[in-house]
Amino acid sequence: MTPAKSAIVIGAGFGGLALAIRLQAAGVQTTLLEKRDKPGGRAYVYEDEGFTFDAGPTVITDPTAIEELFTAAGKSIKDYVELLPVAPFYRLCWEDGTKFDYANDQASLDAQIAALNPKDVAGYQRFLAYSKAVFQEGYLKLGAVPFLSFRDMVQAGPQLAKLQAWRSVYSMVAEFIEDDKLRQAFSFHSLLVGGNPFATSSIYTLIHALERQWGVWFPKGGTGALVQGMVKLFEDIGGRFELNADVASIETRAARVTGVRLKDGRQIDADCVASNADVMHTYAELLGGHPRGVQEGERLKGKRFSNSLFVIHFGLKRPQPQLQHHTVCFGPRYKALIQEIFKGAALAEDFSLYLHAPCITDPSLAPPGCSSHYVLSPVPHLGNAEIDWEVEGPRYRDRIFAYLEKHYMPGLREDLVTSRIFTPLDFQGELNAHLGSAFSLEPILRQSAWFRPHNRDAKLGNLYLVGAGTHPGAGVPGVIGSAKATAGLMLEDLHS
Ligand SMILES: Cc1cc2nc3c(=O)[nH]c(=O)nc-3n(C[C@H](O)[C@H](O)[C@H](O)COP(=O)(O)OP(=O)(O)OC[C@H]3O[C@@H](n4cnc5c(N)ncnc54)[C@H](O)[C@@H]3O)c2cc1C
Repeated sequence: MTPAKSAIVIGAGFGGLALAIRLQAAGVQTTLLEKRDKPGGRAYVYEDEGFTFDAGPTVITDPTAIEELFTAAGKSIKDYVELLPVAPFYRLCWEDGTKFDYANDQASLDAQIAALNPKDVAGYQRFLAYSKAVFQEGYLKLGAVPFLSFRDMVQAGPQLAKLQAWRSVYSMVAEFIEDDKLRQAFSFHSLLVGGNPFATSSIYTLIHALERQWGVWFPKGGTGALVQGMVKLFEDIGGRFELNADVASIETRAARVTGVRLKDGRQIDADCVASNADVMHTYAELLGGHPRGVQEGERLKGKRFSNSLFVIHFGLKRPQPQLQHHTVCFGPRYKALIQEIFKGAALAEDFSLYLHAPCITDPSLAPPGCSSHYVLSPVPHLGNAEIDWEVEGPRYRDRIFAYLEKHYMPGLREDLVTSRIFTPLDFQGELNAHLGSAFSLEPILRQSAWFRPHNRDAKLGNLYLVGAGTHPGAGVPGVIGSAKATAGLMLEDLHS
């Protein structure tokens, strides 16, 4: 009998976990190495004074892609994690008191749209039809396809041209919808995956159709429970998982990779290696001793990286029944603020926030009678703005708390039990994220599909990439799609 093929996956973010599960399920002896003390990457979990805080993704969409991982491993998702529906999907709020509950209920949507601008009811239907067409083409057909050659891009070209993929999300929304607030309501989604709605390809309007198709979900016990479920699945089928396993380098011989060396000095060999770590970190650091790493690291320096985020996790000694699970708090400016976040050299005076109130769906995330939260503010990455986050972080936290207290959560500071902040410096230090970017390469058209780092390296034939820096990009469905594309390539190569 020939021995089983072996693989190493560096990093246990959603992309790394999904890839490791697919490889192990296909009979490849897979080792998953994570530098931190817990899995999840951006989806890390903090626990403090009885509160559970999901660090990152909370809007879980496309449950079918998650279920598929369990099915591929011959298991049922029901035995690992329960996904709870979230309704409304989000509450959108503006400073003048306008509220819009974005739900999967056409009658309610129509009534709310009509209250803002009756003409936009028909415009929304046209926008939805467009978004569905993009979803069909960009997500269902191309979301898990590896774009390895320019020919793949050319083949997708006519359809992308027909859908006017060169236009921005906002310009496409504005073509169908007149009201300023509704334009914000239907264009902000690309921010969830690091895309500036005024620059990102209109392909990203597909997020709207994706949410309408499959809904918005939240794992019982928090996003961390989904991560734990995936780790258990991987281990149940024989995968080997190590925490506190910081990879120092990817080892090579000629044009092949042979394994990895860890910071603790150990060397682990494998038939192939896939990196879920940041793409710049992978090339410039882990492959820094190889000409390919140096060359690719230099090339990536010229790319545009997404914004960073400032996140406050906090626990309150009271519930917050006036909130919905997900709230987007629009500030006084939209376009100008977004331009400053993506290109500005300083921290803006105003902000737009996303506020997480998971106890609305699952009270078990806080002690009885209490509530756990996080609030995030998109901020420039470290390459654009020289902000001393050690000094600015606590000040910025206080400004955000004062704002939330005024508009959304009366008595917040009095009810505060615990809080912690995560700044762009933490994205850089904890996650090895280039420039502290929260979403890796910015998803503009010239950095998408074939133009994104490929799922298989062009020179080192048994080195693969998975996660937000590759096709199709950031977001939980995106990185799970990238894992499907990368697993397909690896299995093909290993068995050829
Ligand atoms: C605050 C926040 C909120 C978000 N909200 C949503 C949301 O609601 N919905 C949504 O779909 N998406 C959301 N996103 C985006 C989404 O979380 C990410 O795009 C996605 O989780 C990234 O997954 P990934 O597979 O690329 O890996 P990552 O999560 O980036 O994980 C990479 C892993 O590699 C590890 N690693 C790095 N270097 C090494 C090394 N040398 N050795 C070993 N391990 C290493 C890291 O520690 C990390 O665990 C959010 C992101 C953030 C930051």
